[in-house]
Amino acid sequence: MKLPIVAIIGRPNVGKSTLVNRLAGQQSAIVHDEPGVTRDRTYLPAYWGDREYLVVDTGGLVFNDETEFLPLIRQQASLALKEASAAIFVVDGQLGLTSADEEIAEWLRQQTVPVLLAVNKCESPEQGLVQAAEFWQLGLGEPFAVSGIHGNGTGELLDELINHLPIVENIPENNEINVAIIGRPNVGKSSLLNAFVGEERAIVSPISGTTRDAIDTVVERDGQIYRLIDTAGIRKKKHIEYGTEFFSINRAFKAIRRADVVLLVLDAVDGVTEQDQKLAGRIIEEGRACVVVVNKWDAVEKDSYTIYDYEKILTEKLHFTDWAETIFVSAVTGQRVEKILELVNTASEAHKRRVSTSVINEVLEEAVSWHSPPATRGGRQGKIYYGTQVTSQPPTIALFVNEAKRFNENYRRYIERQFRQQLGFKGTPIRLLWRSKK
Ligand code: GDP
Ligand code: GDP
Repeated sequence: MKLPIVAIIGRPNVGKSTLVNRLAGQQSAIVHDEPGVTRDRTYLPAYWGDREYLVVDTGGLVFNDETEFLPLIRQQASLALKEASAAIFVVDGQLGLTSADEEIAEWLRQQTVPVLLAVNKCESPEQGLVQAAEFWQLGLGEPFAVSGIHGNGTGELLDELINHLPIVENIPENNEINVAIIGRPNVGKSSLLNAFVGEERAIVSPISGTTRDAIDTVVERDGQIYRLIDTAGIRKKKHIEYGTEFFSINRAFKAIRRADVVLLVLDAVDGVTEQDQKLAGRIIEEGRACVVVVNKWDAVEKDSYTIYDYEKILTEKLHFTDWAETIFVSAVTGQRVEKILELVNTASEAHKRRVSTSVINEVLEEAVSWHSPPATRGGRQGKIYYGTQVTSQPPTIALFVNEAKRFNENYRRYIERQFRQQLGFKGTPIRLLWRSKK
C-alpha cells in the first residue's frame, strides 16, 4: 500500500514551501526513497483527519528571468504530476493574477490529475474573498483563499483535497489468506495438509496462468478462507517412498512469494537444520508473516523441561524469526493442528496492520526519551524527526532522521524492539527505513 501523493505547483515566491510546511506540520523537507516515488525529490508525510498522504513541493527553483523558469517549472511539475493523485496550484493573492499563472493554469487544465487552486497570502478573510475572486478566470474551479503563514483557509482546502485522494486503508479485495506449507522433505507437510483438509473436504483448484502442476487447496474455518499454496508437490508426495523426494528449494521460494503467511514446518526429532534456517531467511527477505510449526511432537520423549529446551534451541537457531509464534503439533494424532490456523489469523492481521502516524510518533518519543540516539565522533547528536508507516504487508515504517548513518545497528534494533513491545506485530516481520533528511 502506497500513500497518495499531492503535488504543490506554482511560480517561485507564491508561498509553496510555506504551504507545504503548514500541511506537513512544519516538518523540514525530507528525501523519501520509497519504491514508486522518485528519488531526490522532497516528500513530506501529512495528514488531515484520518487520511494520510505525502506532499511534494515541485518548486524550489529560483530564476531571475521569468521566461527561463517557466519551462523548468513545467518539467518539474510534470514529473511530480505523473505520480500524484491530486495537485494544489498555488498563486499569490497579494500580487494578483500574472501571465505566468495563466500559462501554468492552461497547462494544468490539460492534465488528468484533479487540481485545487489555492490563493495564498490571504491573511484577512474578507479581503481574501476579494483577492481570490479574480482567480476564477483561471478556469480551475473555486479558488480557495488561504494563508500558508497563518493557516487560515487551509481547512477548507484540505476538506476538498481528501475527496480526491484514493483511500488506501485496508481495501479488502478478497478476504482469503494465502498460506504456504514449507519445510524439508519428510517433516510432515503432506500429513499436515491432510490433517487440515480431511480428504473429502478439500477443494483443489489449479491457479490460472501457472503450470498445471501448481495446485492450491482451499479450506474454510469459521467463515475464513485459507488458500493453501502450491500443494501439488505436497499431495503427490504421499505416494513417493520415504526419503526419496527431490527437495526443490525453488519451488518453496515461489510458494513463499505467493503467501501471506508461511507455515515453516520443522521436524521435532531432527531439530533446526541449516535448510530450515535458509527457508526462514527467505521468509524474512520476502517480508512474509510466519508461524513456526514443530511437527512430530508425539515422537519426542518428553519431560517437563522438554518444551523449554526446544524453545531455547529455536530462539538460538531461528533468532531472526523471533517475532514468529511457535507451535508444537502432531499431524499424525491431530494434536493442536487446528490451533495453527488461529495463529495464522493473528499473523495475517499483524501483517496487514496499519498504525497511525501519531501513534508511531508517540512510541518514538517515548523510546528516544529512555535512550537517546548515538552521537557521532564529531559530537553531533543523532535526531529522529518523526516516523510514519508507509506500507503494510509487511508493516514498513519510515523514520526521518538528521543522518541515517549515525544510527548504528544497536540503536536500530532498540527502536524495532520498542515498536514490537508497544505495538505487537506478532507473527509478522516489520521493516524500518532510516532516511536522512536532505
Ligand atoms: P515558494 O518559492 O513558492 O516556495 O515560496 P515561499 O514559501 O518560499 O514563500 C515566498 C515568500 O512569501 C516568503 O517571503 C514568505 O514569507 C511569503 N509567504 C509565504 N506564505 C505567505 C502567506 O501566507 N502570507 C504572506 N503574507 N506571505 C507569505
Ligand atoms: P512431507 O515430506 O513433509 O510431506 O512429510 P510427510 O507428511 O510425507 O511425512 C513424512 C513421514 O513423517 C511420514 O512417514 C509420516 O507418517 C511421518 N509423520 C508426519 N507427521 C508426523 C507426526 O506428527 N508424528 C509422527 N510420529 N510422524 C509423522
